[in-house]
Amino acid sequence: MNRWSRQTILAELGESGQQRLAESTVLCIGTGALGSPATMYLAAAGVGKLVIADPDLVESSNLQRQILHGESFIGRAKTVSARARLLDLNPQLVLDLHPQRFTPENAMELSLGCDVIVDGSDNFPTRFLTNDTAFFRRIPLIHGAIHRFEGQMTVFAPHLGGPCYRCLLPALPAPGTVPSCAEAGVIGALPGIVGSLQAMEALKCIAHMGRPAIGKLICYDALLSTFRSLTLRPDPDCKLCGGQPSIFDIANPETIEAPACEMNPLPVITARELHQRLNTPSDIILIDVREPEEHAQAAIPGSLLIPLGTLPSRLAEFSAVAPIVVHCKAGGRSAKAAQVLFAHGFTDVTNLTGGIDAWLAENLPTVP
Ligand SMILES: [Zn+2]
Repeated sequence: MNRWSRQTILAELGESGQQRLAESTVLCIGTGALGSPATMYLAAAGVGKLVIADPDLVESSNLQRQILHGESFIGRAKTVSARARLLDLNPQLVLDLHPQRFTPENAMELSLGCDVIVDGSDNFPTRFLTNDTAFFRRIPLIHGAIHRFEGQMTVFAPHLGGPCYRCLLPALPAPGTVPSCAEAGVIGALPGIVGSLQAMEALKCIAHMGRPAIGKLICYDALLSTFRSLTLRPDPDCKLCGGQPSIFDIANPETIEAPACEMNPLPVITARELHQRLNTPSDIILIDVREPEEHAQAAIPGSLLIPLGTLPSRLAEFSAVAPIVVHCKAGGRSAKAAQVLFAHGFTDVTNLTGGIDAWLAENLPTVP
């Protein structure tokens, strides 16, 4: 009891609330930037069981913000690293670890018996999937998202009268219109704030403390040091939680889309290697998938401009066995382009690591 005494002394929690936490199970999607603080605070607060899905390995570029993991676990599965840290925080914690992506195939199984879902994912298909899973399970979804210096958090609980994620975002954004974290960047410490808000809301939902942030989007701007609270209302026409729903299954067009950031490792080439290959006789096709205004500012000599959105309509211009290198600004959109090409039977597709930013950083030539 001494372990929890600082919080059981609070009347809102008490020993009965602590007991509820001990008997609860939380499904945590990802142990990255948001999942790090969320899982650590849930474990430390005495949640009985965490079900964790994360397919990734620990990389050095994670450590600036993913504080669950450390230098000694680089190259190992994040679930292995998570187990070591979380069991050190609370040896009584029961862990159900899945070193795999959260998909429509495993979503209902992983969420079975869970009281709440904490979404620490970084892509839209997974967010739609956690939303739909929580909806069909009738459990709260604690949503969090971060971008550059801004974060947002809310609780989706249509079964309690609030909106769902689809009420806010009815469909997937068009490919290439939203940059990934790797492309846009995210400041350290920011996910600590948003992920901790998520852990707090999960504890509140489980122990029935206070009022969860249902119908309330908390927006944090780190540069301005401001928190704003926006009211969110259910959309009566929502395809999932509205009056005349058309989605009855967690496998649907939004959830089955492969997330660009979590697919199989793509063949990659560095800027320096690409420069060498372009300077030797080869039939390499270099495709710039950025927008025309970006291409006009600075382009790699010999590159062919095909904005990502128009790529599917121009595939007939190339042989399926031609050696193709794709690039964008920082590597995110071109990864998506490579995925499109592979999906259409192209066999020799390579992504320029770090995009034209990496090319410029090496002081390699550009036009104009
Ligand atoms: Zn909805």
